Amino acid sequence: MSRPTSLERSSDEARRRTKIVATVGPACQDAPTLRAMIAAGMDVARLSLAHATLDDTLQRLQLIRSVAESEGAVVGVLADLPGPKVRTSPFPPDGVHLADGSVVELAPADGDDTSNERRIAVDLPAVLENLEPGDRVALGDGAIELVVHDVDGRRALAGVVASGWAQGRPGVILPAGRLAAASPTDVDLRLLRALAGAEVDAVAVSFVRSPSDITRARDALDEAGPMLVAKIETQEAVDSLEEVIAVADGVMVARGDLGIRCALEDVPHYQKRIIRTGVAYGRPVITATQMLESMVRAPEPTRAEVSDIANAVFDGTSALMLSAETAIGHDPVNAVRTMGRVAERAEREFDYLTWGRNLGRQQTVEAHRAPAPVRITAAISAAAWRAATDADVVAIIACTNSGDTARAISRFRPTMPVVAATPSMRTVRQLAMAWGVTPIPTGHHGTTDDIVWFAVQATAAAGYVRSGELVAVLVGSPTDPEPATDTLRLVRVR
Ligand code: PGA
Ligand code: MN
Repeated sequence: MSRPTSLERSSDEARRRTKIVATVGPACQDAPTLRAMIAAGMDVARLSLAHATLDDTLQRLQLIRSVAESEGAVVGVLADLPGPKVRTSPFPPDGVHLADGSVVELAPADGDDTSNERRIAVDLPAVLENLEPGDRVALGDGAIELVVHDVDGRRALAGVVASGWAQGRPGVILPAGRLAAASPTDVDLRLLRALAGAEVDAVAVSFVRSPSDITRARDALDEAGPMLVAKIETQEAVDSLEEVIAVADGVMVARGDLGIRCALEDVPHYQKRIIRTGVAYGRPVITATQMLESMVRAPEPTRAEVSDIANAVFDGTSALMLSAETAIGHDPVNAVRTMGRVAERAEREFDYLTWGRNLGRQQTVEAHRAPAPVRITAAISAAAWRAATDADVVAIIACTNSGDTARAISRFRPTMPVVAATPSMRTVRQLAMAWGVTPIPTGHHGTTDDIVWFAVQATAAAGYVRSGELVAVLVGSPTDPEPATDTLRLVRVR
């Protein structure tokens, strides 16, 4: 018997509702591994442009698309812009150990430069001129620390004060205030346009500091561009969280850089706040970085990592992300499978009813502040959650063009399956990162009656509902110039 694909899985099967984003890199950029990762539960593939060229990224995008298609699976692709992060030239593939007390030279990178345990090449040479003796410089996610002894023009000598393995192209974290480059950079904007041209589903913007960073990226795009995911990894973004989230289409709790730029002990609390706010706004929230870090090398995660994943699920995250674990790890498929198992188990403990009730109450309190379409969608989706729960429907069907209706109802974390019926294949893939949503492609239909009828038929054909069962259907008016989800129907499947 062949494995059921995401489009074919029946509603009887226990399904994970939290989505998994896996970074595709050298360890998994071949069809058999990608196929196995999809089977293991990868919903979204992330391509990090901090670690790959645009050409490589576009090739990986095509490969992922063709593997997903041959598997009949829905896989979204999230491309991640590098932002103004300073990085080293590549260390050898197996990494080098930077030992306590050893002295390294920091030098400007030229061309195909590499780094090793004696000399670290830095790709934004200007920063080296601003270093001063006594400065602390961290590598990677802050594990390796150097102290600058001596500066000579564009070179610096530094001693290792916290040892560790350097691998790939770790970030170079300078003392606060030494790097004022804005995000998105000109390079980011060029990459963004090329990625939009290749119809990537979503693009993550790194080192966002204000809502205007997102709107600048949006302005570089045509109307139906990719979703823009704001990576929350600076103190400034945390300080204007609601404003940033309001203009973004998705959010990432980017714990790696967040833990360097803010107090480390703030990270778990910011995580909760970012998730709560993102979900309230109907934005998918991805919790990222070091979730299964030990599995880069080890076959089994630490107990702390397992608890961390479960707690991110309890915080209400829409998706969980793997970075190095899949990009350069020794067993990417096992990392995806392990994350799925832990998330699925955590979901069995989640108190979805309380979550839905609290969100409904919070919306009622804050409704007067929102613009009209947002208010209408909020009111109807809250009513849909209530009706679906009270009438005990077997599924909620969101009919949607942009995916917004499905994301609006997904916020309430309904206990029954949420199916999104959409005529747009791009929306199908974009909903791969929305909590608990199973997207199903449908045709274009001109009237609300037809939209509802065909959506219910498609949902039944996919095995989510049977004749005689009750479903809740949410639908927007197809001709409204200010689109809002304005109709709720309880329908008995014929
Ligand atoms: P990065 O972003 O992996 O691109 O740095 C995520 C993070 O900072 O946590
Ligand atoms: Mn980051």
